[in-house]
Amino acid sequence: MTLTDHPIETPPRAPSPVHKFGTLAVHAGSPHDPVTGAVIEPISLSTTFAQTSVGQPIGLYEYSRSSNPNRDNFEKAIAALEHARYALAFSSGSATTATVLQSLAAGSHVISVSDVYGGTHRYFTKVALSHDVKVTFTPSIEVDIATLIRPETKLIWIETPSNPTLSLVDIRRVATIAHEHGILVVVDNTFLSPYVQNPLDHGADIVVHSVTKYINGHSDVVMGCAAFNSPELNDRLTFLQNAIGAVPSAFDCWLAHRGLKTLHLRAREATKNATAVAQALQASPHVISVNYPGLPSHPQHAITLKQHRDGMGGGMLSFRIQGGHEAAERFCQATKIFTLAESLGGVESLVEVPSAMTHGGIPREQREAAGVFDDLVRISCGIEDEADLRADVLQALEKAVVGPKIRHGLGNGNGLA
Ligand SMILES: *Cc1c(COP(=O)(O)O)cnc(C)c1O
Repeated sequence: MTLTDHPIETPPRAPSPVHKFGTLAVHAGSPHDPVTGAVIEPISLSTTFAQTSVGQPIGLYEYSRSSNPNRDNFEKAIAALEHARYALAFSSGSATTATVLQSLAAGSHVISVSDVYGGTHRYFTKVALSHDVKVTFTPSIEVDIATLIRPETKLIWIETPSNPTLSLVDIRRVATIAHEHGILVVVDNTFLSPYVQNPLDHGADIVVHSVTKYINGHSDVVMGCAAFNSPELNDRLTFLQNAIGAVPSAFDCWLAHRGLKTLHLRAREATKNATAVAQALQASPHVISVNYPGLPSHPQHAITLKQHRDGMGGGMLSFRIQGGHEAAERFCQATKIFTLAESLGGVESLVEVPSAMTHGGIPREQREAAGVFDDLVRISCGIEDEADLRADVLQALEKAVVGPKIRHGLGNGNGLA
């Protein structure tokens, strides 16, 4: 194949950054204020910007939905960390997904992995169809992709690791086939953050994030972003960002940018904690199985080694507990440091039961085919101390699995319980 009959012009990559991740996280998009010298950028709340004559703004800005200083700086930082030429911020991860899907012409076809984030699944099945964009889901995209591609296929949507079973996709393998057919590949990188994985380096065309999770990292902002290298994509998505208007506030951009400056520290600590918790769970007789990409026992550990920084597993894991759904619920109530709540990626550790919470809307048969059984517990490891998290998980396992058995035994007619 020559370059000329290649249907996608591979856009020039962003120049290789001179500095390493931590330096970029702290400094990219963070200029000193040229007037006051302020080291931290001020929050620019103004919605409109003065002009000297009609159509001649004093600076770069006219109206805050179109662009504003805090969003610009945050977007520059994201572009640097995802090795992208461009990045755009949106009011949520879901608004990011919606805007990317809106960029497709009516009649387009999308191929997605089956176990996408619940809200993405909902948008694909309940909203995209209304502007005639159809989505096919597959549980094994690396195997099926060639047979699922149609002439109108325009986009492939990958989540790696998947939620909540933490299965992985080889991005390069999918992108190679997709690009032969002129199809763009989107990777939702929310679960790992740009510190652990940079999908554009593995052939993806667009990387998206729910900034709400690791990038902001403090569970106090809902926001999303997309990063990419193609100038055409930048024109189209910038137009839609402004036209649809699902944009974050200047204050949220400022908060998320502050959170992002410590992403590398938080991601390293969360990985260390998740590794310790995964190992403790794997060694426990009360656990049926553990899903964690950082464990050598993970069926796709080779992809972890190839795609993730230093073979890191990230801060998310899930496991099946002995004793069924009741034991899973008891476990989540017995933890003292892990809070029972949805979401992930914050400094605090969280625990939840996907079958009854985040994935409760998916029919049982479909859910179990994807490995989401009633006894599955999902954990987001925060940045507390490893020994405390390990001990908390072990004591909660005892309470959830062993405790009820003892009570049941004692209460068996002897009048003691
Ligand atoms: C949370 C999440 C989203 C949606 O992001 P919001 O900011 O909640 O709209 C998308 N993808 C993944 C993997 C998520 O975890």
